[in-house]
Amino acid sequence: MPDVYEPIMGAFSLARRLWKMIVEKKGLPTGDDVASLLENLGFERVCTGSGLAVFRNRFVIALLIPRENMIVVDFLSSSGELSDALELIAYYDKEIECYVVEILPSNELEYEENLGIEPVIIDGKTFELRSYPVLGDFKQGKDKVVLKIDREVYELWKESGKLDVCPVCGGHLRWKQGKALCTECGIEVVVDEEH
Ligand SMILES: [Zn+2]
Repeated sequence: MPDVYEPIMGAFSLARRLWKMIVEKKGLPTGDDVASLLENLGFERVCTGSGLAVFRNRFVIALLIPRENMIVVDFLSSSGELSDALELIAYYDKEIECYVVEILPSNELEYEENLGIEPVIIDGKTFELRSYPVLGDFKQGKDKVVLKIDREVYELWKESGKLDVCPVCGGHLRWKQGKALCTECGIEVVVDEEH
């Protein structure tokens, strides 16, 4: 199970799973599917209201807000701090005929520049990927945070020619023996061969 200590950790793990699920099911997952994914990430459902479901672990709160033909999950710190809150949205874009999974800052004033997280764009007919998202599970190490990506994600990332760009902050990545360290945000990216 990944570590979800911060909103971005939950958003990355859920986005990767939604990407896989859209390709497998050839369509948008249901609210119940997303609820199960959140539970598999270690979140506990604490309440279900009219249309809204609230999940939490020790560090992060996730709000699942079902909308017509759209999945919306807000992630915020359980401390109530909103500056690092993120919104994950998944929907079918009729104009480009693709499924899209995006991670956006909830507070746009805090992030004047784009977060730099590449959206997942999946062709609605062939279910081939149209973008190069670098998503995976986080692990909290002793002195650093590690983003574990699987082989499929790594191969796509390589294809994009952007192996030197940090998938979290857009900073510069320095590769050394199969691991990459971001010189700006300090996260380490590793290719997880287990999956
Ligand atoms: Zn970085």
